[in-house]
Amino acid sequence: MPGQVPYDDAHKVSTVFDMEMFKNLEKGEVARVCVIDEQAYMAVRHYLKELGYYECHGDYETVLREGADPAKCVACKYAEDGREVPVSKAQRHFVSHIIRYTTNNKGELLKPITFKMMAWSFSNDKFNMLTDRQKNHGKLRGKDLIIKCTDKNWQRYDVDVAAGPALWLANDELKKRLADMWQKERHLDLDKLLCRKVDVGQMRDLVTKVIQKAPADIQKEAIAEAGSVLSESDLSGLLEGVESTPLAVQAPIQKTATGKMDTGSVVDVGVKKDELNFDDILRMT
Ligand SMILES: [Zn+2]
Repeated sequence: MPGQVPYDDAHKVSTVFDMEMFKNLEKGEVARVCVIDEQAYMAVRHYLKELGYYECHGDYETVLREGADPAKCVACKYAEDGREVPVSKAQRHFVSHIIRYTTNNKGELLKPITFKMMAWSFSNDKFNMLTDRQKNHGKLRGKDLIIKCTDKNWQRYDVDVAAGPALWLANDELKKRLADMWQKERHLDLDKLLCRKVDVGQMRDLVTKVIQKAPADIQKEAIAEAGSVLSESDLSGLLEGVESTPLAVQAPIQKTATGKMDTGSVVDVGVKKDELNFDDILRMT
């Protein structure tokens, strides 16, 4: 209905990029949160220097097993370890809806109880930690987590599970508040916050661009090799039959005792996102 619209809430549009992110904590700062999604959103992504995060085109299991899939992903072919490299290695990353309660820096609640819904973005270590907490304490959304930052640069946390049920379950008013927030936010595809998805040709162009901007010594080596990637004919050979494989957004992954990813085991994370609804939340006790 283009034309004139009143300045009211009903006509506001919010996207996933308007979501507030759970921001880095200061050392010693304590936050009280509750993870609301039953499943995390996951992507495998590369960091392209100064351009941001892009989804890896590699086969998921190959990337987990080998650390890269250079046959299918141009970024994997030129990826290196380190923080300042033009193309970083493919890494799994996650994001989830949480609520963060209003507290002071020590994590003590301010009265009356209030909370905000936000997006928490994290890597493998925190995914494993959350999986362990759920295994030991039941569904994540039924328990609050007390997060204490022990290292600001790396955002390392000590995470305790608060005694008793999550505070948002304390009374009907708080439950209703969460249900209303969830109703507004649940349709947002948080995985858009993790990385951009581009096709194979665009990825090749982006990788070329960041390599060309890299310091001369890295560039010399990479360009010498990149000849095979940059030539259209070689590229079509290299990439023949390669299509961007859709990632299992919520793939069942478990870390084994050896620290390697075991894709054969399934973490029981309950119902799918589509099956969730806020009535379930209201019924939770
Ligand atoms: Zn890749």
